[in-house]
Amino acid sequence: MIINMKTLLQNARILKMDDTPIFIGSIVIEDKRIVYIGSDYEQYGPFDVVHDCLGNVLMPGFKNAHTHNAMTFLSSKTDDLALHDWLFNAVFPREKLLKEDDVYHLSKVAFLELLSSGITACFDQYYFPLSTAKAAEEMGFKVVLLGTYNTLYGPKELKTLYLTLNSKKDSLIRYCFGIHAEYTTNDEEVKVISDLVHELHAPFFTHICETKAEVEDCFNRRGMSPVEYLDANGLFDYGGGAYHCVYLSPKDIEIFKKHNLTVVTCPGSNSKLASGIAPIADYMKEGLNIALGTDGPASNNCLDMFKEMMLVTNLQKLIKQDSSVVPAYEVLKMATVNAAHAMGMFDNDILEVGKRADIIEIDLHRPNMQPLNNIINNIVYSGSKDNIKMTMIDGKILYLGRRFKIDEDEENIYQKAQEVSDRIDQELANQ
Ligand SMILES: [Zn+2]
Repeated sequence: MIINMKTLLQNARILKMDDTPIFIGSIVIEDKRIVYIGSDYEQYGPFDVVHDCLGNVLMPGFKNAHTHNAMTFLSSKTDDLALHDWLFNAVFPREKLLKEDDVYHLSKVAFLELLSSGITACFDQYYFPLSTAKAAEEMGFKVVLLGTYNTLYGPKELKTLYLTLNSKKDSLIRYCFGIHAEYTTNDEEVKVISDLVHELHAPFFTHICETKAEVEDCFNRRGMSPVEYLDANGLFDYGGGAYHCVYLSPKDIEIFKKHNLTVVTCPGSNSKLASGIAPIADYMKEGLNIALGTDGPASNNCLDMFKEMMLVTNLQKLIKQDSSVVPAYEVLKMATVNAAHAMGMFDNDILEVGKRADIIEIDLHRPNMQPLNNIINNIVYSGSKDNIKMTMIDGKILYLGRRFKIDEDEENIYQKAQEVSDRIDQELANQ
């Protein structure tokens, strides 16, 4: 007989993110799911774990809708370079030296950082995705892997991965089709992914319109924008979205609306790489779904949703010269509900009975949260990782009071990542 673990999170301010106001209450979790939200929790006892939230906020975990987790080995190693120089001379030569096992170790460091930032799931695109999946499963982290047609995975392998990884009930890992970008993919590769998208009625994601030069170059080669080209090849016929979207044309926006595509904006990466500022306030007016992502640690450098939330709204206020655009609650939705939906996750988007328990506790007993004049504004405009008291995924507390509750010593994880980083530098120097 399987006895499910019962957890009580009591004495909290509950922010469900379903557009209802914050209220005082408790949450009961049985195994992976929320079974009760309210004040009369006694009937669900006895509990295996009781956690007193001391009046702190419980809300859905942040979802990082775009990252390359294992790029942790490049963090703070490739900064302050022009974009082309950064990508072709600093990033690509080092990535060539990556081994399958490296990605496993490097992903683990990223998961620790994500947990400490209140992020409970991420949309990851990188080499050796199954190494990322292995690390995620071991640590209890939730990942949607973006699978690309390449030397490792032909069409058959991609189809098998899509069907097997998406058929497991309540799995931590899901799989989605995509490409890195129009400018790194040839017509034949686009056709392979398009055939899979149509055969399996699957959504599709890619980096798109990240820089002005990318769009101009595509026009010069194809006489159309990257969005138009991929749409003409049917890639967006079953939805999905794209990362960055700094330079969408009115025609591109119409394509996004036609297929209900998500704009995954990465203001930290776009500003650090001087790519530009995506006109998110305009996209919101057009009714597009907007999700937030950090991008990889090589271009950000941190995996911190608070920084992205602050940037996405402040940059819009600045370029619009209007401090009323992109209000705080909309920003919070980009980091939670909108991102969850972009990633195909509808069972952990809000706090509700029956949903999977991907929950974070925001510590209000910190000076940057006081006084409690407007909790949502506090979280978006003055919140930081310092305020993440607890991170729970599928009903398991994985981070509490600055301590990781995982089966491995984090110092061991740091050391392994350092060894990978140092080895790659050494190999590069020996070339
Ligand atoms: Zn990226």
